[in-house]
Amino acid sequence: MTFHRIEQMIVGMHHNVQIIPIPAFKDNYIWLIHNGQQAVAVDPGDAQPVIKTLKKLHLSLSGILITHHHQDHIAGVNALIKAYPDAVVYAPKLETYSFPHTPVEEDQLVQLTDLDLNFSVMHLPGHTLGHVAYYTENKLGDKWLFCGDTLFGAGCGRLFEGTPEQMHQSLKRLAALAGSTQVYCTHEYTLRNIEFALSLEPSNPILQKRKLDTQALRDKGMASLPSSIELECATNPFLRCHVASIQVGSGLRSANEVAVFTRIRELRNVY
Ligand SMILES: [Zn+2]
Repeated sequence: MTFHRIEQMIVGMHHNVQIIPIPAFKDNYIWLIHNGQQAVAVDPGDAQPVIKTLKKLHLSLSGILITHHHQDHIAGVNALIKAYPDAVVYAPKLETYSFPHTPVEEDQLVQLTDLDLNFSVMHLPGHTLGHVAYYTENKLGDKWLFCGDTLFGAGCGRLFEGTPEQMHQSLKRLAALAGSTQVYCTHEYTLRNIEFALSLEPSNPILQKRKLDTQALRDKGMASLPSSIELECATNPFLRCHVASIQVGSGLRSANEVAVFTRIRELRNVY
């Protein structure tokens, strides 16, 4: 082993941040980002499974990132900050929360010094009006996106508050991130979304392969996530409104991307 290789290993160990899914409720994931000592939880809708995991792994909670105000993303916050009073909570500035928090908005940098990570905040209206995502890149060049209920594996969130135009624009911003960006969504909807995507685009070979890969993971009880921006751009119909096969599959045969997006979101609502 060369010196260079040993040095790389030590650097790797120093930045050895792991991201693990904590399943909650029926199909939520609470993502835990940790370095073996300190942890940050994303969208903790339930405190108990988080506390259980923190204790099992001998971790302390130093931060909580909130993407939007829905109960299944925030209901665990009060119990967590009671158990871990040092944990700093970050939540979207444009929404109202009952717990103490640092409001975050577009372009803001959330510095998690314990984990040696800086997250940039993206305001992504659509699912809710104040919805944000957190994007970070570590010193090894790994890129991670925590996108709440905006982008799902092969799908996207429902439009509870925003317009189709807003959601379409938000998704286009995510699609423009580097293809290697790992996508951490908060629900395990991937297989059902793939079925829907295949109903629009049955001949997409990458989508067909994704179905098999996802089925194999789920059969083993594993999460279908994280996904990647590259895979989403190749398979997610909501990121493919500019592609002829989706425009045909939507039934509209229109090149108006927002119209196609609106139509396939409506189709997915009743699928
Ligand atoms: Zn939601």
